[in-house]
Amino acid sequence: MAKLMKAIDTKLVHAGEPDPSIGGAVTMPIFQSSTFESAGAKSYHDLRYIRLSNTPNHALLHAKLAALEGAEAALVCGSGMAAIATTLLTVVGGSGHLIAQHSLYGGTHDLLTGDLPALGIEVDFVDGDDPASWREMLRPNTRALYMESISNPLLEVTDLRAAVDFASSNGLLSIIDNTFASPINFRPPEVGFDLSLHSATKYLNGHTDIVAGAVIGRAELVREISRKLGHLGGVLDPHACFLLNRGLKTLAVRVRHQNESALKIARFLEAHPRVAKVNYPGLESHPNHMRAIELFDGFGGVLSFELEGKLPAAEAFISRATIPICAPSLGGVETLITRPAATSHSGMSAQERARAGIHEDLIRLSVGLEASDDLLEDFESALK
Ligand code: PLP
Repeated sequence: MAKLMKAIDTKLVHAGEPDPSIGGAVTMPIFQSSTFESAGAKSYHDLRYIRLSNTPNHALLHAKLAALEGAEAALVCGSGMAAIATTLLTVVGGSGHLIAQHSLYGGTHDLLTGDLPALGIEVDFVDGDDPASWREMLRPNTRALYMESISNPLLEVTDLRAAVDFASSNGLLSIIDNTFASPINFRPPEVGFDLSLHSATKYLNGHTDIVAGAVIGRAELVREISRKLGHLGGVLDPHACFLLNRGLKTLAVRVRHQNESALKIARFLEAHPRVAKVNYPGLESHPNHMRAIELFDGFGGVLSFELEGKLPAAEAFISRATIPICAPSLGGVETLITRPAATSHSGMSAQERARAGIHEDLIRLSVGLEASDDLLEDFESALK
């Protein structure tokens, strides 16, 4: 009989897992085999080979990730950037035009401005909070609209329902990077997004020990992207698949703890006299707070803030706080702290960062699984 799997917590543990189990193994084994015996395959894409992302370890993740966001299909990739680049080359390649939100992860911004134009893809940026201005950017070759569910590093929540409506009424594909929210807080296919992308390096895996990506969405699009991935080669290896599946099983408990802890920390920082500004969609002061409540089940584990003493104060805080590890990336069990202007967004020019509102002294904090009280005490003394 099929397992009862209504809640996301149950899907994280059981969706896509082999039934019956393989050799009685409770945990899916790693199929460390590059190729598999042919069994009457009719086309190249029916052969089983790691680069074609169709080994048993891949198939399990594809079924699980699709179930988590209530989508038709999913595909894992060798990194979040492989997921983003392969998707855009598939759906906007061949002289297409893309409309994207201004405030984006730095690597995505670099891809859109530095690499895609040389491949014949045109890109325009818009204010994600001003749907009226998107229309002016439409061109005959516009193919897709690209957003982030919670933007990196300013934690903006754009009008995601308006994005879906705008895309569908203009014949565009709606694409969203859902890394920051994770499927625990937001499931883009439920509001109509065609494709949801993830850096699975972050929350999905959660243990800061692999780099991985995911594409989740409509089956025919995922199939096309999977074929492109087979040609471009940015695939995930079976051992990383195994680790990603292990990490996924605890996603709900991790993210719910991180939601709670980040909210406590954001409230503490906002009330502190040495803190000038806190960006966190769970705060009543956040300009998109009501929208975030309507869209999300939680506000995530990342926040960013600026101190009264500007850059020297930011550098002093980062060096004095004892628990956070000063490193880029996010979504792991350990609290990480970084200055995006010096790390994740250093590829943007100073003017581009200024235009996007990413100041030199902005600190980004990815809250881990340490006790919130320990983090609060640590931050209190680092601010003294
Ligand atoms: N999308 C977001 C929102 C990110 O923060 C990152 C990385 O920091 C990426 C995509 C790229 O992911 P990866 O480093 O796994 O290639």
